[in-house]
Amino acid sequence: MNGYPNFDVLFEPVKIGPKIAKNRFYQVPHCNGMGYVLPKTHAAMREVKAEGGWGVVCTEYCSIHPTSDDSPFPFAALWDDDDIKTYTLMVEKVHEHGALAGAQLWYGGAAASNLMSREVAIDVDSYPSTLKPDPVQCRAMDKKDIRDLRRWQVMAAKRAVQAGFDIVYVYATHDYLLSHFLSRDWNRRSDEYGGSLENRVRLVREMIADTKDAVGDRCAVAVRFSADGSGSGNGIIDNSEQREMLEMLADLPDMWDINITDYTKEMGSSRFIKEAAQEEYISYVKNITDKPVVGVGRFTSPEAMLRQIKKGWLDFVGAARPSIADPFLPTKIKEGRFDDIRECIGCNICYAHNSKCVPSRCTQNPTMGEEWRRNWHPEKIPAKGSHDKVLVVGAGPAGLEAARALGQRGYAVTLAEATTELGGRVLAESRLPGLSEWRRVLDYRIQQLKQLSNVDIYFSSRLTVDDIMGFDFQRIVLATGSKWRNDGLGRWHSQPVEAFSAKEIYTPDDLMQGVDFEGPVVLYDDDHYYMGPVLAEKLKQAGKDVTLVTPSGYVSEWSQYTDEQTRTQGRILALGIHILTGKVVSGFQDSSVEINCIYTGKSTHLSASSMVTVTARKTNDGLYRQIMEDPQLMKEKGIKSVTRIGDCLAPGIIAAAIYSGHLAAREMDAPQRKALSFYRERVVV
Ligand code: ADP
Ligand code: SF4
Repeated sequence: MNGYPNFDVLFEPVKIGPKIAKNRFYQVPHCNGMGYVLPKTHAAMREVKAEGGWGVVCTEYCSIHPTSDDSPFPFAALWDDDDIKTYTLMVEKVHEHGALAGAQLWYGGAAASNLMSREVAIDVDSYPSTLKPDPVQCRAMDKKDIRDLRRWQVMAAKRAVQAGFDIVYVYATHDYLLSHFLSRDWNRRSDEYGGSLENRVRLVREMIADTKDAVGDRCAVAVRFSADGSGSGNGIIDNSEQREMLEMLADLPDMWDINITDYTKEMGSSRFIKEAAQEEYISYVKNITDKPVVGVGRFTSPEAMLRQIKKGWLDFVGAARPSIADPFLPTKIKEGRFDDIRECIGCNICYAHNSKCVPSRCTQNPTMGEEWRRNWHPEKIPAKGSHDKVLVVGAGPAGLEAARALGQRGYAVTLAEATTELGGRVLAESRLPGLSEWRRVLDYRIQQLKQLSNVDIYFSSRLTVDDIMGFDFQRIVLATGSKWRNDGLGRWHSQPVEAFSAKEIYTPDDLMQGVDFEGPVVLYDDDHYYMGPVLAEKLKQAGKDVTLVTPSGYVSEWSQYTDEQTRTQGRILALGIHILTGKVVSGFQDSSVEINCIYTGKSTHLSASSMVTVTARKTNDGLYRQIMEDPQLMKEKGIKSVTRIGDCLAPGIIAAAIYSGHLAAREMDAPQRKALSFYRERVVV
């Protein structure tokens, strides 16, 4: 490890109650869109992390009772003994690789709407569903309910022991039931569970004791707890009560899993939150307890991890997203393979797909969620199936990933890029405000390509059909991307808008290429993800007066799934960008933008010198269409396949481009399955 600090300390074993973790790498509980419904998919995903060197691998939130049902969001459950097998699957696989398995037992309280179980939730008081706008209200717990809750926790803990788990949780944060009992704001009880700090802490104290009694020395008991209180914000950290509570409970559990109250910060996207952002919140905790502490911070740099341990802030480097982007992060650090680390870019696409109730995927790691159903491994790939030579055209994310994975398989690959730089849209987008970490998508792939002597890269090579026909490649992969439209066609307008007749209409591609124009500017966002607000910010930074118009009720509506929406709209407002929601742009002529209300149809006009449309994209598939026009010529030239990937096939998010490139590489010369290209996990009647 010459030239690098010594990372051995990260690989020291750490005792957690009756168990010993082999190192300090701790995959904290994280949702994944699999839950109890997809046990094999879930177990295989967790196994890969254990194989990759994580010392502890946990489940996501694991419900202890049907009155805590988060449907339709996929969650884990240990509701009855039939659930035990589901988790034995995971535990056995995690143990095979010498890691400990943790079960994050969970009771949602007012946060769980119980839409599937139709049970009535219980909580410290009767509140409407706290985390979602469901028209559901829980009831206030009486003494019997408190006894029931404690019993459910005990029963679930015993099931976790039977499933073979090494660590079980008491979950006392993240706006779930126990955090409501702890909270000065939520807890208005007048009995021995409300009022004084001692009273508010009582239920957590009882749950810890009950859980310890239930598991004995077969399991360690961890408590997930927030280091700050709900008063935190605006740069002020309010931890006065939390500090006292921690002092009261300090050495009762076997370990502490510490986070913060603001989930949009804890789980913040890289646009808003940088690595190790929780340091200042949680560094005091270890002064209070002798028990090991784990905390997160989207740690991807080994130096930042080392600092947490050396400074005495943490005993375990906790990670959810970095373990998704690179399940082999610990192994790569151990082996000094720092350049091989696939760093999380903080886009929260993983989280977004759990929010959409489907298995999580990852921008950086195309194998995430595909471990079982496609038998994909993040580090291994089958050797090539022929001696065919492959031409990949276009070096955006799709082309780079296809070339990398085909190269890893051993094919002779030529990657041709029209410009002088690798990266396509990701290179351009990573230069936009807040998106610099997205460059990691390229950094990882370029680094890997450098190590592959069987991949040749050609720059300034805008290929034509004649070029391609003149070469000697049996396989053609087209990754030529897409271009943003400027005619208004999108979700709202299903046809190009004729009244977009002004010349001063620009697209995201124009802005990314540095085209400048006069303000004031109307930015019409019918895309509803990051591009609209990010460009509005760029325009504002350039000193222009900007009005963001969108048919949605929110700025960047889709970013509610990545947990960025409130921060995005907050930033737009703070920058002084005008916002018009529920409005569609239906014309732009003579410096006048026609805007219609989507509810009333009422038309208004806004004066603007320029307009930027963020609506839809057109595929750059001209090469594909031209090649396919002449099948005879293809045959004569010995071309066996022409495959479109990424945005050239269908414009989408970067994760889709990476996946598409990876899929094309995996499928080259792969035996065809009869029906589906992946296994389905389902109940067969
Ligand atoms: P994706 O997201 O699907 O990877 P991008 O738009 O990011 O798509 O990347 C497409 C890349 O293909 C760009 O870098 C572009 O310069 C390149 N490209 C487009 N047409 C050609 C062509 N005819 N020959 C070579 N490269 C091309
Ligand atoms: Fe990180 Fe994005 Fe992958 Fe999630 S999807 S692990 S945030 S790179």
